[in-house]
Amino acid sequence: MFSDKEKYHRFDKKVFLATPKMHGEELLYIKEAFEKNWITTAGDNVNELEKYAAEYTGCKYAVGLSNGTAALHLAIKLAAQKLYKGQKPGASLEGKRVFCTDMTFDATVNPIVYEGGEPVFIDTEYDTWNMDPLALEKAFDIYPDVRLVVLANLYGTPAKLDEIKEICDKHRALLVEDAAESLGASFKGKMTGSFGDINVISFNGNKIITGSAGGMLLTDSIEDADKTRKLSTQAREAAPWYQHEELGYNYRISNIIAGIVRGQFKHLDEHIQLKKDIYERYKEGFKELPVKMNPFDEKKAVPNYWLSCLIIDKEAMCKQVRGDKEALYIPEEKKSCPTEILETLAAYNAEGRPIWKPMHLQPIYRNNAFVNRKGYARAMSNAYIDEGLVSDVGMDIFDRGLCLPSDINMSPEDQAIIIEIVKSCFN
Ligand SMILES: *Cc1c(COP(=O)(O)O)cnc(C)c1O
Repeated sequence: MFSDKEKYHRFDKKVFLATPKMHGEELLYIKEAFEKNWITTAGDNVNELEKYAAEYTGCKYAVGLSNGTAALHLAIKLAAQKLYKGQKPGASLEGKRVFCTDMTFDATVNPIVYEGGEPVFIDTEYDTWNMDPLALEKAFDIYPDVRLVVLANLYGTPAKLDEIKEICDKHRALLVEDAAESLGASFKGKMTGSFGDINVISFNGNKIITGSAGGMLLTDSIEDADKTRKLSTQAREAAPWYQHEELGYNYRISNIIAGIVRGQFKHLDEHIQLKKDIYERYKEGFKELPVKMNPFDEKKAVPNYWLSCLIIDKEAMCKQVRGDKEALYIPEEKKSCPTEILETLAAYNAEGRPIWKPMHLQPIYRNNAFVNRKGYARAMSNAYIDEGLVSDVGMDIFDRGLCLPSDINMSPEDQAIIIEIVKSCFN
C-alpha cells in the first residue's frame, strides 16, 4: 500500500471525523442573551430550545443540561428512584444490576456506576450494530430481577426499538434511551429520543448539531421534568434560604450554550441530508470492495447518518492484533484491516476512528457480566470466536470495522480522494 501513497497528496487541511458547522443564527441568539444580560442558566434561549426540542422529538418535556453525560446521570437516577425507593442519595442503584448497550461510548454506561449500579453488558447484533434483542431476552432469563435497561442508538442508527421496548415491557423494566448520537433519526415514523421512559440527547462538539457542549433530558412525565430541573440546580427546596432535602447537582445548561443550540436546531435536517450524502457516496465508492457500510433496516429506520462506518468482509481481513494500547498487522495483497486503513488515512492527514471498543473488553469493566444470545459470553481471545466456541458480535465488529471521515465540512472532492485511499489499502 505504501507504494500507492505517492499517488495522492497529503491533505493540506486535515480532513476530520466530524466537526461543527455553524450558520450565523447562533451568534444572533448569543448576542440577544448579552443584550438582555441573560448570561446564566435561565433565559429565552433555554426556554425556546426546550420547547423546540420537545416538539421536534415528540416528547412532552425537554430539560436543558450541561451535557449528555449529566443528562444520562439524571435519567438513570430518576429511573432508579422510581424502581428502588429508599436507596441512599448518590447510590440509588447500590447492589443493582442494569442491562446496557455494550458497543458504545463509555458515557452511556458510566452514570450507572456513578449511582452504585453494576452494568451487565448485552451483546450487539449485526443488523444495526445495536443491542441484540435476543441477547437482552437471554439476560432477563439469567437475571430476572433486573428492572432497568440503558440503550444507545449507535452512530445515528436506531436500534430494534420495537423489539427492545416489548421485552422491557414484558419484564416490567424501565428503558433509558441514549439518543446522543441519533438526534433526528426515526424508527417506524417516531423520533429516537422518545422511545425510552426517559431519554437523552447531546450537543457535544462532534454531534450532528452542537452548542460546544450541552445536553437534554426528554420525557413525557411532568414530575420527571420538574425533578430534573430541581436536581440539576443543586436541589433547592422552596424556602427563603438554601434548604436541602436531597442530593443536588450543578447540571443546568447555560443560556449562551442554549443560544448556540437554538440556532443549530434549524439546520438539523440540512445536516442530516449532508451526512446522508456522505454515506451514499461511500457506499457507491466502495461497491467493488469487500466491505459493507454500517447497516440499518430500510423498512423501519431512518438514520441521521452521524458517522459513516465500514466493516471488512471476514475473507478480506489481513492479520491484525490489538493489545490494550497498540495494534499490529501484517499487510497482505487484496486484503486489509482497520489498523491499516486508519494508519493510511492518518498518513494523508485524514481522521478515521476505530469502532467504539465494546465495554466488556475495557479493563475498567473486565469483571462485569457480558451476555449474548446463548448466555454468558466472555471470550478469552479471538481464537475462541474463530473456532465458533464463543460468539461475541461486538468484538467482531470492533475487529473488522472503522469510522470513516464523516465531516459535513468535507468537500465531495476530498471525499473522492478518501475513497481512493481506502481502495488502495486493498491493492
Ligand atoms: C456523546 C455521547 C454521550 C455523551 O454526551 P456528552 O454531551 O459528550 O456528555 C453519551 N452517549 C453517547 C452514545 C455519545 O455518543
